[in-house]
Amino acid sequence: MSGADASTKTQTGTGAERGTSKDGTLDRGNERPPTTSDAQGLAPVSTTTTASTGGAAGTVTSTVGGAPQIGESQLIGFERQLDWKKDFVPVEKPAPGPGEWVDAAETFAGIGPVEVNLVLVADSKPPVFRLVDNMIVRITHDSKRSWRATWIQSKPKAVRERLLHHEQRHYDIAALIGRDFFLELMQLKRRTYENQAALQRDLETLNSSIRSKAQAVQNRYDEDTEHGKKQDQQDRWDKMIEAAGIEAAYTQKKPLLEVLGAAGITF
Ligand SMILES: [Zn+2]
Repeated sequence: MSGADASTKTQTGTGAERGTSKDGTLDRGNERPPTTSDAQGLAPVSTTTTASTGGAAGTVTSTVGGAPQIGESQLIGFERQLDWKKDFVPVEKPAPGPGEWVDAAETFAGIGPVEVNLVLVADSKPPVFRLVDNMIVRITHDSKRSWRATWIQSKPKAVRERLLHHEQRHYDIAALIGRDFFLELMQLKRRTYENQAALQRDLETLNSSIRSKAQAVQNRYDEDTEHGKKQDQQDRWDKMIEAAGIEAAYTQKKPLLEVLGAAGITF
């Protein structure tokens, strides 16, 4: 994806590229044993997850000029099922002993760089620009940075599934926030802009109102569920994520931040 024939490029936001964000080192440690262990007396497991959101405000690249690109805006990667083998690098770690609490996995998912194009509105005087309907927002999962402890494999299926489910929800949250961002971006198509700077202002407003909250939502999810240990909280988040319509990308659009707000979780 690129702004072909673009004559100028600008960036908005703090510009931290995905993968270099300090967010990637959040919430390690401070783990406590879970309240349950399975019938075979297996040691407790934990999952530590961090979702990278590509920096506080992310990156939006906008281009002006060149031939208008005909196309449709796309939200890519909204639905994705994470797979232990394909999406997580195995890391050798000692299995937890009795009563011991160790990191089990970490997920890096977020909203990738967003690219938009401006085009001159024909015959406009003074000249004004509008966004071309070929904006692309990608939900990304970094399968090279995301990892799983190898000892997970020796755990019963139910344990492995519970851990993966918690990780999956991190991806789903990234996807839903990405969709919130995408839908707001679509609204901007109706506007006209005097220049690129005017568009940048709108994009920055969007960044700070939605995109920059992605990490805060991920952190709250981990705090509430204690990284998936608290099943009642996990269930609660599952319900909120489903209410926002993770399985119905275009038919049941309810902004995730709205669903969370209704449950008293505000950012
Ligand atoms: Zn987590």
